[in-house]
Amino acid sequence: MSDLPFPRSLPEFQKLFPDDAACAAYLEAAKWREGFVCGHCNTAGDPFRFEARPGVLRCRKCRKDSRLTAGTVMEGTHTPLSVWFWAAYLVSSQTPGMSAVQFQRQLGLTRYETAFQILHKLRDRLESERGFSALHELTVDGWQAVRASLGLQVRPWSKPGPKPQPVAARFAKFVNRDGPIPAHRPDLGPCHLWTGAVRKDGYGAFTVNSKTEQAHRVGFKIAEGRWPEPCALHHCDNRLCVRRSHLFEGSRPENTADMVTKGRGTARTLSDEQVSDIVRRKAAGETQTAIAADLGVSQALVSLELKRRRA
Ligand SMILES: [Zn+2]
Ligand SMILES: [Zn+2]
Repeated sequence: MSDLPFPRSLPEFQKLFPDDAACAAYLEAAKWREGFVCGHCNTAGDPFRFEARPGVLRCRKCRKDSRLTAGTVMEGTHTPLSVWFWAAYLVSSQTPGMSAVQFQRQLGLTRYETAFQILHKLRDRLESERGFSALHELTVDGWQAVRASLGLQVRPWSKPGPKPQPVAARFAKFVNRDGPIPAHRPDLGPCHLWTGAVRKDGYGAFTVNSKTEQAHRVGFKIAEGRWPEPCALHHCDNRLCVRRSHLFEGSRPENTADMVTKGRGTARTLSDEQVSDIVRRKAAGETQTAIAADLGVSQALVSLELKRRRA
């Protein structure tokens, strides 16, 4: 809409929209950016215009009419376009508490019912547009609000940025497939270690559909096409492992029992030797990031282990 007039003040508004013909010209330009195209026969070209019916354009080829107000709040009403535009300006720029009586007076309308209907139609459209844009973290203000309340298209809005990656591809970026081979179950082969964020409970954290899930549960879901019922437990005893063949399903009590029998009341994902190594290297001046990269684990886990050791 950048090349269409954009009133910044009341005098500018009055100058741009002095009468119905000016409003109609605006609607036409807003609707057909490249010039009129008949919606009936798809023919491009200058249509017939009627002074007495500014809201109507007639195709020169098929002679059918197109309405400028189609799809807007003005569609099907007898209220002049200039009154609608002025009303939209009032609704968009005034405090929300304006009464229909005040509205009627401002617009110079003789019928209260007309004022009431116009006011509510405009407010409804503006509200729904504001609700929509709030969902997309956008704001509707000023002239956009006038357009929104009239029901004119204001949403070529899409958030810029990269297209969302499929979950599996995004997930795989955080998985190191050369993890340690569990000492008590070498037959399992190497763990696939989560290198992303780590939750307080020692499990990996991964966000799907705005919800943060345990990474190993997501690993199960990606492999199986369904979530584990109700929990995913580790054969390998490594909370950061997301490898499907290292996981099995169990209930929550079993999960707790599993933890107790395996002798880990608190989460531990690295061996004692590895943790001692981390502490020593940190004391020697290595960064957490460098140590984490070397061990193939997340920086968050290194930080967590260091905090545990200090506690
Ligand atoms: Zn036509
Ligand atoms: Zn594992």
